Amino acid sequence: MSFDTLGLAEPLLRAVAEYGYTTPTPIQMQAIPAVLSGGDVMGGAQTGTGKTAGFVLPMLHRLMANPAVRDAKGRLPIRALILTPTRELAAQVEESVRTYGKHSKLTSMVMFGGVGMQPQIDKLRRGVDILVATPGRLLDHHQQRTLDLSHVQIFVLDEADRMLDMGFVHDIKKVLAVLPPKKQSLLFSATFSDEIKALADRLLNAPVLIEVARRNQTAETIAQKVHPVGREKKKDLLVHLIKSNDWDQVLVFTRMKHGANRLVEHLLKENISAMAIHGNKSQTARTKALAEFKTGDLTVLVATDIAARGIDIDMLPHVVNYELPNVPEDYVHRIGRTGRAGAKGEAVSLVCVDENGFLRDIERLIKREIPKEIIPGFEPHPSEKAEPIVLGRMVIGEGAGRGGQRHHAGGGGGGAGGGRGGSGGGQRSGGGGGGASRPQGSRPAGGGGRPPARSGPPKR
Ligand code: AMP
Repeated sequence: MSFDTLGLAEPLLRAVAEYGYTTPTPIQMQAIPAVLSGGDVMGGAQTGTGKTAGFVLPMLHRLMANPAVRDAKGRLPIRALILTPTRELAAQVEESVRTYGKHSKLTSMVMFGGVGMQPQIDKLRRGVDILVATPGRLLDHHQQRTLDLSHVQIFVLDEADRMLDMGFVHDIKKVLAVLPPKKQSLLFSATFSDEIKALADRLLNAPVLIEVARRNQTAETIAQKVHPVGREKKKDLLVHLIKSNDWDQVLVFTRMKHGANRLVEHLLKENISAMAIHGNKSQTARTKALAEFKTGDLTVLVATDIAARGIDIDMLPHVVNYELPNVPEDYVHRIGRTGRAGAKGEAVSLVCVDENGFLRDIERLIKREIPKEIIPGFEPHPSEKAEPIVLGRMVIGEGAGRGGQRHHAGGGGGGAGGGRGGSGGGQRSGGGGGGASRPQGSRPAGGGGRPPARSGPPKR
């Protein structure tokens, strides 16, 4: 099947062909006609499936087919709004809008926090058809009346599950309240918890349901492997894997930003070029790291889960889980960075004895056992015992309490309530709405927590 049969306008087909796409991905085959027909869509798809083009292409087609009517002040109104959880994803989605819309006259803009308001205000004044934004900054503009959302015809909520995980539920509701009631709405999410379903009920009107890979399923094209490793040998094992296999582009995940920084220092000492990207880095530093990684100048990019969200690099060959995520769904998102759009990829996880509980949760979620391979010289010492893992003020993992039970150190505060569907696995005392405080720098195991300060995504 080719793109020509989907009913897209010629300038869009030309842009897609120039970009090198020949065949639509499964989500594109389903989403493009559904969005073109004007109805609401609920899409179950994770990054790597081609979902961005799946909604951007038909959105551009519809906007091109209905030329903009200037408002009372003679300005071009914002006709499409795409909300994303992170700055990186916003920037990449807007880049896709520009790429696919290059032969159209439509204008677009990306908007997120951490940078000055004034250039954004100036750009809005000049007129924008399509706005791609993170929720916090969007609401800041709305509050200051520098933004008019009353003419939005198409609204996209991208990576809705991650938005809720990051505590954006109240912001999303505020945005929905200022959008016109009559519009086309599209919601994309990799997972469908009860909260997502509730949000979809509120937002969508008789949506077409599109689901490509079954939820929480990992792509067949990704070879997964676990290397059991001694706790203190992880750094050296990573260096060994990179050097002995001649890996030249590796995305490495750590749970926390200070772990990312320490790892980068170690790699640099070993003459491996590396940079970290996480919530404490400036936008400029993050953009620079990503650009150097994409061009191949940088061998290793070390990222935390939230910072890595939406990183779009074609055919990334290697993803390393230097530390397993404490939220099993993050494993699926992490390894989705490799083997994209059908390309082959490899995802290896360096697992020490403290993380065996996380590994069990992950294997339960993806419904398969990940092959284990010991690299001689790096195996855990037989006497090594699990120690608790400290995430901010939260203590979790095999060594915390009895039998893998997870609990929060320190208490008080409001509950981070709300269950999360399908996560399976270990008991989490903080996730049931039970009054444990939400620690700095971690996400509650139980999904919809309280919103962070509205200046952007929580730092991680
Ligand atoms: P996404 O899931 O939207 O993040 O896209 C994942 C990756 O697939 C991106 O690098 C896209 O450039 C790429 N991609 C999207 N659609 C196609 C297609 N039809 N053919 C080849 N690659 C694609």
